[in-house]
Amino acid sequence: MHETRPIASNARRMRLLLVLPKLGIVLLLAALLSLLWLLQHNETEEERSALIKDVLWLEQNLRFHLNGNEEQLQQLAVDLATQPDATGIFRTRAAHMLKTRPEIAQLLWLDANRQSIDELPSGSRPADGIESAIPPIAGKYFEIAGRLGKPVYSDPYFATSGRAHITLLAPVVSERRLTGMLIAIYPLDSLLGNLVPWWFTEKYRVAIVDDNDIQFATKTHIEGSTSQSYQIPLEPPGYGLKLKVSSYPSPGNSLQRLLTVAIVVLGAGVFWSLWIVRDLMRKRTLAEEALRAEHAFRTAMEDSLTVGMRARDLEGRITYVNPAFCKMTGFSSDELVGRTPPMPYWVPEEIEETFAIHRTVLAGKAPPDGFEITFRRKNGERFQALIYEARLIDGNGQHTGWMASMLDITERKAAEELARQQQEQLQFTARLVTMGEMASTLAHELNQPLAAIASYNTGCLNLLARPDYDPASIRPALEKLGVQAQRAGRIIRRVHDFVRKSEPKRAPCALGEIIEDCLGFVEADARKNQVRIECTIPELPPIAADRLMLEQVLLNLIRNGMEAMAGTPEKERLLKVDIALGESELRISVSDQGCGIDPEIRDKLFSAFFTTKPDGMGVGLSICRSIIEFHRGRLWAEDNLRSTSGNGTIFIFTLPLEAA
Ligand code: ADP
Repeated sequence: MHETRPIASNARRMRLLLVLPKLGIVLLLAALLSLLWLLQHNETEEERSALIKDVLWLEQNLRFHLNGNEEQLQQLAVDLATQPDATGIFRTRAAHMLKTRPEIAQLLWLDANRQSIDELPSGSRPADGIESAIPPIAGKYFEIAGRLGKPVYSDPYFATSGRAHITLLAPVVSERRLTGMLIAIYPLDSLLGNLVPWWFTEKYRVAIVDDNDIQFATKTHIEGSTSQSYQIPLEPPGYGLKLKVSSYPSPGNSLQRLLTVAIVVLGAGVFWSLWIVRDLMRKRTLAEEALRAEHAFRTAMEDSLTVGMRARDLEGRITYVNPAFCKMTGFSSDELVGRTPPMPYWVPEEIEETFAIHRTVLAGKAPPDGFEITFRRKNGERFQALIYEARLIDGNGQHTGWMASMLDITERKAAEELARQQQEQLQFTARLVTMGEMASTLAHELNQPLAAIASYNTGCLNLLARPDYDPASIRPALEKLGVQAQRAGRIIRRVHDFVRKSEPKRAPCALGEIIEDCLGFVEADARKNQVRIECTIPELPPIAADRLMLEQVLLNLIRNGMEAMAGTPEKERLLKVDIALGESELRISVSDQGCGIDPEIRDKLFSAFFTTKPDGMGVGLSICRSIIEFHRGRLWAEDNLRSTSGNGTIFIFTLPLEAA
């Protein structure tokens, strides 16, 4: 949920970013196309005005020529009417005219009855098929010209050869009487052919058309479609004839078209590439988002770790520390990253030792189970750290440095120490309690040797009082007295040793002796409680143990057994201490025929302060187990299946047979 929002806003931003270049390209394309259109428009306009200018020029040129022809023909008509050698004049002038005005195909001279007087070219029919007879259409205009008394043009007409012609009729009037008619025949194609200059036809297509767009003649040098045209009435001859001039598209036009196509294609190309870029960007954004999410997840993971993490390169320079590491040491990441030994969190007094450990780690010999070390926080406070070092292998499988995880175990250590002290205190207390319990027994115990000493003493005094006393007879009594005194002294020393608080010390000791001592200790108690004690001690190697502690365990177990048999019939009150010598351990069992242990309380037996006795403290068995575990042994309870009373418990503990 948290990731979708930035992804959506990013996508929106990306879309916006992509819209801008697209918009820019559209505008650029529009501007380019408008520019092209404008250029084209201007060019067309220019072309048109040039066309109009050229057409006007051509029309003027044609008119000038035709008017010139008309004048010459009229002059000839006048001369024919007035000059004596009319035939000769016609021949000379007509020949001259045909030569200088090649657009005229033939000149005819008719009389008033429309009969041919002369014609040029005569007789022979010209190769291009000019009619030699009077054109039928000219008949209509013969009369009009005669009546008007001035030159008249005929309608255009198609001769049998298919060529279009017009004729110019000039009346020959003599003394106000029509005496003849001069006719000039213009094939329209030769009119265009002779009067339109060559350069004009390089640019334009010139045609003579009528109102119905029927084409009479054309002239051009270029093939192909035309772009624009302009028409102007062709007068003379009139009759709706028009000069139609069409221009060909200039080569610039096709270049322009090519440019337009190129622009459009390029624009499309840019759009397409933008599309691809958009796709790529989208994919990239998605990948980035995924990466960011992954990174955020990893960072969150690292940040929430309570274990300090530290990465170092192969030279021992710190390359990374996580927040937990910073929190433990009190130094910020900036203060630590890039640092080389000695590190600011090293304890100055132990710099040499820390350097040695550092070198061991860099040599790849750090203990795989981790090691403990004391570090210093920024505020000077010391703390215990448990460090695990591992090789840092990068994505290519290269060993690039060392990664360490660090645990602050100061509190754990303190708690352990406190527990140890408490346990010690408890042991001490237990010893005091045991001592209290033993006090009465002790008094009784001491009573015996003391009573023996007193009686030996009285005996000696009695011997001394005799007149015949023999000093040698006193000796055995005195020796026995000494033994009893030593025994009393041992009893007292044992109590003293027992109560004195001392650190557990493992030293080679004979288990047989310890057991005998204990039994000596409880002897009086057992007698008092009518308990029989059986013990067989085989030959044993010395074991490494704390003698006092083992005594305490044995005393506890023996005393518990005796107490458990309080309700057992007197003759069944049997307590056995057995030792079995195994291959690697000694197995010592203390069995009673007492009340046995209820299955419900069996689990709680070894918990501290668990007791079923009104005046019990419930710490005995818990201390016993700690002591045995301190000696790397085990302590447990089983039912005494061999009990003759039917009930009973066996407490068994083992001790490893180590070279003492
Ligand atoms: P305490 O003797 O002060 O009660 P212990 O830790 O020595 O404390 O013993 C805990 C309890 O275990 C005793 O209260 C008793 O109920 C039970 N217990 C110990 N030894 C025996 C035994 N030999 N037979 C039956 N119950 C026993």
